Amino acid sequence: MIRTILIYGAPELQTKSSPITDFNDEIKTLAQDMLETMYAAPGIGLAAPQVGINTRLIVLDLSGGEEVGHQVILANPEITEQEGSEKGEEGCLSVPGFTAVVERPVKIHVCWQDIEGCPQEIDAEGLLARALCHEIDHLDGILYLDHISLLKRDLIRRKIRKKARAGEW
Ligand SMILES: [Zn+2]
Repeated sequence: MIRTILIYGAPELQTKSSPITDFNDEIKTLAQDMLETMYAAPGIGLAAPQVGINTRLIVLDLSGGEEVGHQVILANPEITEQEGSEKGEEGCLSVPGFTAVVERPVKIHVCWQDIEGCPQEIDAEGLLARALCHEIDHLDGILYLDHISLLKRDLIRRKIRKKARAGEW
C-alpha cells in the first residue's frame, strides 16, 4: 500500500524515532509499504518518519527499482565509524522541489538488523554512504536542511512559506 509522504513542517519529521524491538507483521507490512511508496515517488531512500511512523526503519534502493537485488531494509541502523568528508547534492522526498549541497562522510560503517531482526553490517562509500547518512538522520528528526548554511536554509524556508501561503505546500 502506498502511504502518504509527509512534507517539511510535519512534526513527525522532527521527532526522534524509537528502536524496533518486536519484528512483527506490522513492521514487515510497514517495510513493504515504504518500498512501494519509495518506488512510486520515485526515490532511492525512505525513512519511516516520512510516512508518519516514528520507528527506526529505513528502506533503500539506489537503482530506484530499475534493477533487482538493490533493495535493502534496515531496522535500527547505526553509523559506528566514519571517515573523511565530501560535498554532494541532496534532495528529499519530504522537501519536494529543492536540493542543496550537503557535507557527508566519505566512508561509513553501518550496523543494523534485517526485517527478521538478524544483525547485519556494511562498509559504505559514495552515494550509498550519503543515502544512508541522509536516511539515518531522518530517524533522529534531522533533515538535510539542518546541515546546510543558514543563508541557504533561510532561502529555502522562505520559498516554502511562500508556497504554503499559496496553498501549494
Ligand atoms: Zn529525506
